[in-house]
Amino acid sequence: MTDIADRAAERIDELNGDALAEHYRHDHAHGKTPADSAETCSGCGCAIPEERRIAVPGVALCTECQQDADWIAAAAKRNGRPA
Ligand SMILES: [Zn+2]
Repeated sequence: MTDIADRAAERIDELNGDALAEHYRHDHAHGKTPADSAETCSGCGCAIPEERRIAVPGVALCTECQQDADWIAAAAKRNGRPA
């Protein structure tokens, strides 16, 4: 009757691996570099200027779309709803 114990141990290893992977990804979200920046805006698809990609590591939106997103987030906050 070692099967159940073995399977449980394997499952725990899997879960720990997932947690570590998740932790790793989360950590890296805070340490973005210009190489993580998108070359094209995920909002409108236009090219994001190189200066912006360097100035805002991990950037995904062009200036215009970022302003829209900020405005929507601020409006949602004013209305008491999470963005
Ligand atoms: Zn855009």
